[in-house]
Amino acid sequence: MIQSVKDIIQSSNNLENYPELNDFYVHPPSIGQIAFSMKFHFSAFFLKSLFLWLPDVFFNARIPCINSCASPSVKRDGFNPYCRRAVLQNDICFIVSHRFKCTSCNVQFNSYDPAVLLQLPNHIQQAFPFQTSHKNAIATSIVRGMFDNIIDGNGVAGMYRLLKNSHVLRYRNAQRMYLEAVVHHRKNSMYLSSQFKSFLANPPLFEAFDVLYKGQVLSEHYLRDVWLKFFFERPAIQDSQGKFDFCNRFCITFMKK
Ligand SMILES: [Zn+2]
Repeated sequence: MIQSVKDIIQSSNNLENYPELNDFYVHPPSIGQIAFSMKFHFSAFFLKSLFLWLPDVFFNARIPCINSCASPSVKRDGFNPYCRRAVLQNDICFIVSHRFKCTSCNVQFNSYDPAVLLQLPNHIQQAFPFQTSHKNAIATSIVRGMFDNIIDGNGVAGMYRLLKNSHVLRYRNAQRMYLEAVVHHRKNSMYLSSQFKSFLANPPLFEAFDVLYKGQVLSEHYLRDVWLKFFFERPAIQDSQGKFDFCNRFCITFMKK
């Protein structure tokens, strides 16, 4: 799926011809569509949404150099070879973006690297809905939501449990629908190809949840780091006397616990 989307972008100078690419997200068919269609195949259950971060295409933005060098000469250099994995509320997605090269200072970078994002106009920065770290990314809405969770006394540990549970729930739901679909197709197998019949006779098992995610998606430690970075890097919220620094005070109180 990732390669076919990249091919479409690559081969078209006019993305308006591709309505499905006029949104940032490209979604695979829903689990229900996959499970009960005759195109049912195992790997389709593991397809993830793609987030197309293409500010150079969608916003016609001039991409700055990541090093802010004095006379940048930035050119597109294909796509990011390894799409960045990003944590959503109950799943993960992959960020597809062009890769860029500044020939003045000879560096390669992605258009979602924080040092690049910060140089783009604010409305473009706001359109990027993730907080990126060295290897991962997480939806900004999740990080913002942590604030309420922490105020409610659930802490980062509670937020981690909620998020992990919601990922596991979605995964278990996909697994259940897969098994139901196998049973359904077995009962209605008279018009199926011999290849599909042999698949149904010996359906592969789902990977265990942690194996599928390779244990890298979520950890309490990661959420804590992301949350502290997010709030410390934002301007303090002040009251009318300019004294009430809620975000920073709250962060500091939290860190002392
Ligand atoms: Zn440069």
